Amino acid sequence: MIYIRKVSVIGSGYVGLVAGTCLADFGLNVICVDNDEYKIEGLKKGILPIYEPGLDNLVKRNMHYKRLHFTTDIKKAVEESEVIFIAVGTPPKDDGSADLKYVLKVAEDIAKYMNGYKVIVDKSTVPIGTGQKVKKVVTDILKERVVDYKFDVVSNPEFLREGSAIHDFTHPDRVVIGSDTKKAASIMKDVYRVLYLNETPFVETNIETAEMIKYASNAFLAMKITYINEVANLCEKVGANVQHVAKAMGRDGRISPKFLHAGPGYGGSCFPKDTRALANIAREYGETISLIEETVKANERQKFKMVEKIRSAIGSLEGKTLGILGITFKPKTDDMRESPSLVILTELAKLGAKMKIFDPEAKKESEWRLEHIKDCIEFCEDEYEANINTDALVIITEWHQFRNMDLDRLKETMKDNYFFDLRNIYEKEIVEEKGFKYFGVGV
Ligand code: NAD
Repeated sequence: MIYIRKVSVIGSGYVGLVAGTCLADFGLNVICVDNDEYKIEGLKKGILPIYEPGLDNLVKRNMHYKRLHFTTDIKKAVEESEVIFIAVGTPPKDDGSADLKYVLKVAEDIAKYMNGYKVIVDKSTVPIGTGQKVKKVVTDILKERVVDYKFDVVSNPEFLREGSAIHDFTHPDRVVIGSDTKKAASIMKDVYRVLYLNETPFVETNIETAEMIKYASNAFLAMKITYINEVANLCEKVGANVQHVAKAMGRDGRISPKFLHAGPGYGGSCFPKDTRALANIAREYGETISLIEETVKANERQKFKMVEKIRSAIGSLEGKTLGILGITFKPKTDDMRESPSLVILTELAKLGAKMKIFDPEAKKESEWRLEHIKDCIEFCEDEYEANINTDALVIITEWHQFRNMDLDRLKETMKDNYFFDLRNIYEKEIVEEKGFKYFGVGV
């Protein structure tokens, strides 16, 4: 007989909301919890706190079929569920280590309200050893309550990418389940039954290994991006073309073409914090992952190199106006967390530039993230308005609509003709034929 597990997800942010919604779409009954009342009130009305393609329809559909519920009442969610995912944030502290206060607070709450056997699943990205910390917090509170409920802790890291989160969750390359008991691992397979039946590879291991897999994977990808960025910088000096280098490298099955796109540096809510956290964990244990220490530094340098690229081409930026296209950390998201644009725009403003910005989804978030340079920026309605009377156009994030712009129209309305393509989405020759001075990254 198929046993349908009752699931709740604590933390309805990017990961929690996507995971909860997709699990509901797998046919499970899911309660999504958040302590942000405003967020939950919105979700109950079908208003999403984030922009993620396809997610609004999936939320509405599963709410309609009463498989997906939203609440701020963690007690009720814990009592009614057998499997409880923790999907709260693990932001970086000043020293780069991951702040576990949200995860451990949720662990406390779960222990306070437990009324029987529970599988507590860590989906947040957490330092190695966190599963054991969660176990201790829960054990201590159950002792205080003088109750003897059994529970298991599982590490089930998430690998979804913002912008393709639904596809990634429903078609993962692998599902990692770190557990100390066969019982918990088998319950997790019930939860992911749809994927299991579809022959998605499952990696079953212990909790510490599962926690390590997530950091090792993210840090590797960040390192790969940084590697091609540094190769790109060298390409510029030696007259090579990084696009061709990356294409040829990517054809090598041992390398693969993914994450070999030169640009202004990685950003987002994961790579910057996870690389710093991994370096920090290694230091704590008296080890050094020097490649990742360097990756972190090189990624910072890359953002400043982009500013220098613009400054050295144009000369003084005092009184110059730049049309900035794309400021989210990548396309198809409204997320600006650690976006390279934050450093680039701040530095350009310091150099005296005025900026006309267009991004299809970032207007709201940019209002507070760019508050410190508000006198230097203006948000525009589209890519063309953002380039009226500008000295230069700067593509920072490669939204699809920037890939096929009417270059004649842009040229006509711009004051000068600098074209900075920090994502290499245009061919230099074509842009130059239209009368622009083209600058890519490593081309
Ligand atoms: P987020 O900030 O978007 O969401 C976290 C949510 O948790 C917020 O809505 C917050 O209000 C809620 N929350 C905090 N404390 C709570 C509590 N005590 N009770 C209930 N809700 C609470 O974060 P995110 O981007 O979803 O990331 C969550 C975790 O997943 C992080 O560890 C992150 O590294 C990891 N992760 C993120 C991604 C991604 O692309 N965003 C991908 C893979 C893994």
